[in-house]
Amino acid sequence: LRDLLVASLRSPFYNAQFGELDLHVDDAHPAPEFELLSRLPILTRSEVQRADGLHSPLLCVAPETLVRVHHTSGSSGAGSLWVFDTAEDWEAIVNAWTRALDLYEIGPGDRALVCASYGRFIGFWGLHEALINRGVMTVSGADLDTVARAALIDRLGINVVAATPSYALVLGRQIRGVEHRVRLVLTSGEARPSATRKALEQAWSASIADTAGMTEVGTISMVECPDSPGDLHVLDDVAIEEVLHPETREPVADGELGVRVVTALTRRGMPFIRYWTNDLVTPVAPACNCQLGARVYRGGIQGRADDMTKIRGVWFLPSMLEEVIRSFPEVAEFRSRVELDERDMTVLAVEVELDPSLNTVERDFAMVFDADAKRQLGFRPQLTIVPPGTIPRSEGGKVRRFERAPEVAA
Ligand SMILES: [Zn+2]
Repeated sequence: LRDLLVASLRSPFYNAQFGELDLHVDDAHPAPEFELLSRLPILTRSEVQRADGLHSPLLCVAPETLVRVHHTSGSSGAGSLWVFDTAEDWEAIVNAWTRALDLYEIGPGDRALVCASYGRFIGFWGLHEALINRGVMTVSGADLDTVARAALIDRLGINVVAATPSYALVLGRQIRGVEHRVRLVLTSGEARPSATRKALEQAWSASIADTAGMTEVGTISMVECPDSPGDLHVLDDVAIEEVLHPETREPVADGELGVRVVTALTRRGMPFIRYWTNDLVTPVAPACNCQLGARVYRGGIQGRADDMTKIRGVWFLPSMLEEVIRSFPEVAEFRSRVELDERDMTVLAVEVELDPSLNTVERDFAMVFDADAKRQLGFRPQLTIVPPGTIPRSEGGKVRRFERAPEVAA
């Protein structure tokens, strides 16, 4: 952290922000950096967006030393931004991915299919390179559709598949009932509630492992703990993560919901220091023996702070609906929207496609869904069952299955 802070002073932005602070740290005082960190200002996305691209005042190095260029997906609707890496920064990103591979014992002899769109999106670029470094036969499924990817799994004897959770479910359903060698499905890029984890396990009959990070901090900084499935472990040597209250910006206690604020330790060419991610997590002390880090996020990332909406007096997050929906195997796809009804009441409209092969009686499904949703969410969504093929499917990239009408306040 000390090295990062000193290096960051070469950027006009950080120099103006904390050039006056005494960054010199006396070794006699243990861990004063953390105390110093908490006094630094919080960096928001809109600040970074003010001067985007190669003119970004966050850059600490000459453009000649930059080798990789990525672009955030903008999936939160907040617009996208450019990030740059030096060769050294990129190596650190690949190393972080290697940690995940080691944890799940992926190495020579394994054969991996990476279902990513690549392009400027950082997504699985780091994973792809880490797989090759580890001696894994690696194939990209970027230009293939779901049928062709399923055929490739069979033809090459693929045993590790990487995809977003929603796409892994689409591919898993395609492959269900077919004999395959896949032993591990590695997911990343979206919140993955526990019902989705269960649905993935059922579709693939394989182990499921989640990873999470963010383009701005250099892809992954969290890995699902093999000792406590469902929880994400913070990789302490990749990033310092604080969890702050969405409004007061004070640290939350263990067990409380807060926003991840990340300081990426390894990205030095374009540092993100105390970056407000908007990701909602519940930090707890780990109850495992994996020695990965001092903190886990219970249930992984629960959603985005800017998606939180009050409906009928209770706080709602899209992952809560996903948790309800994914417990119904008869649901093939869904999407939701928070809007105002004719009485100006905030409501959650849910569209659902049923799997035609299961011959579900619509009225029976609606009745059970209604009761389950009321019990788990605290209010009744407005359910519409739409014909098969109405809702767009993931082709491997991130999918927004939730939106909020502009007239609804957060
Ligand atoms: Zn652990």
